[in-house]
Amino acid sequence: MKTELLYDILTIESESHDSTQMEQFLTDYATAQGWQIEPDRLGNLYVTKGTASVYPCLVAHMDTVHSITGEGISIVEIAGKVTGMYASTMQQTGIGGDDKCGIYCALYVLGQLPAGKAAFFVDEEVGCLGSADADLLFFEDCAFILQADRRGGSDFVTSIGGRPLASDEWLEAIRPQMLAYGFKPVSGMMTDVEALRDAGVGICAANMSAGYYNPHQDGEYIDLNELDNVAEMMLDICERFGGERWEYTPPEKVRYTSPAWQVSTSAYSTSYSSPRRPRGMPRTVWRDLREEAQYREARQQQLAEAFPYDVEEMEPSPRELMRLESET
Ligand SMILES: [Zn+2]
Repeated sequence: MKTELLYDILTIESESHDSTQMEQFLTDYATAQGWQIEPDRLGNLYVTKGTASVYPCLVAHMDTVHSITGEGISIVEIAGKVTGMYASTMQQTGIGGDDKCGIYCALYVLGQLPAGKAAFFVDEEVGCLGSADADLLFFEDCAFILQADRRGGSDFVTSIGGRPLASDEWLEAIRPQMLAYGFKPVSGMMTDVEALRDAGVGICAANMSAGYYNPHQDGEYIDLNELDNVAEMMLDICERFGGERWEYTPPEKVRYTSPAWQVSTSAYSTSYSSPRRPRGMPRTVWRDLREEAQYREARQQQLAEAFPYDVEEMEPSPRELMRLESET
């Protein structure tokens, strides 16, 4: 792990509608490395390293939900995990691992590859404004798009909003890497790769756990081992599969206009009824709550698969039977 690079990224403050300090850092860093870097009118940044006919591509978002205070974030490391503090008040603050972990992964992987591309977007946290309006020409010679912008250490998000992000063929090809690094496919929530898919980017994409926990909260922290692990998996996938273009066009969005009794047979029509956002609750808070609920559900599912026996339903052991008999 390039700890110095990670810490440089983590100390920078950025928020939605103002990621100028992060933009400046990335511009300086890419330039110092001899990489090409271009901004667009929104402030998104496009980086190219080396020359190739096809480039593996990594993306991340530059904004965080934490407000800029102007004093920078001090990093506290405890037992392989880091969190953020304000030195003046000694109060904990979200370290912005969402999505500074993704920025670290992109820079780390690009640094190791002979040639590659990366895009850094503004304003993901307020509705993927940057990625939804990204310059799609940049991705025309890309193999696929990887993003590390999900809590935890083992989720490989292959579909968002009920629609896949990638072809079965690509997912099958990279499955050994997923397994080797301890990841499993799950469906996830809104982020830049979804916006790129919906904008028509036309290649496979995925989002994966970036080692951060409690995103959008003061208690946010990053597990350094997990961050290191996902960065190595991304590098591995780029090295093995980044030399050819993995095209992908998602199925049409399904609209639920048919009556309830008319069951759709489409493989991707998940017509679960999501609860409504309560009046007055900000969209971002509502999104966090839903994401948390979905994460917990996925975690339950993982636990159920890992421990398939319900203790309460198991046959009592002979010893337990004797105890039960003696009680009656
Ligand atoms: Zn994020």
